[in-house]
Amino acid sequence: MTGIHTERTIGFAHFVHTDPTSKCFRLHGHNWRIEVDIESEIHKDGMIVDFNVIKSIIDEMDHKVVVPQDLINNPGKKKIWEETNSDVLSKHEFETIAVMTTGLVYEDDGRRSVKYYEFPREDVFIFPREFGAVTSENISKYLWNKFLTVVQDRTERLASIKVTVWEGEKSYAYTEDDAA
Ligand SMILES: [Zn+2]
Repeated sequence: MTGIHTERTIGFAHFVHTDPTSKCFRLHGHNWRIEVDIESEIHKDGMIVDFNVIKSIIDEMDHKVVVPQDLINNPGKKKIWEETNSDVLSKHEFETIAVMTTGLVYEDDGRRSVKYYEFPREDVFIFPREFGAVTSENISKYLWNKFLTVVQDRTERLASIKVTVWEGEKSYAYTEDDAA
């Protein structure tokens, strides 16, 4: 069996909305190193999967804010800002995505730990609902599924895919499965 390996480091922001007691509940960022291993049949074009295809799938999240689809509030909302003293910004429309998290933890002053963010639409990557919270584990599952689709389009004799997602120097999650 022949295999390919590639790795790429991207940067993006996230938060883990499922644990309001963790510091990861707050918006923050990492440099994520993504490693991909695919063993499969070589397609008639001489490749298992073009490295550029793998790169473009990973890069969809690069330099974005990655938010869980379930938390998106009023997508496509447009806002008009009026800055009467500025010629440039006298009137402008922004397409935004609003995101709200609802934790169950109460702060010392009694406020509920709810966060509300609003981002420019083009800066957001929407993490599909079926993968849940934006964690290293779920990112590896999401990417694994994307690469599975790519490989299945090229051959019926898939052997294995492994996706490793490093979120720190010593911490990683991976998804690996024998899909043959
Ligand atoms: Zn994090």
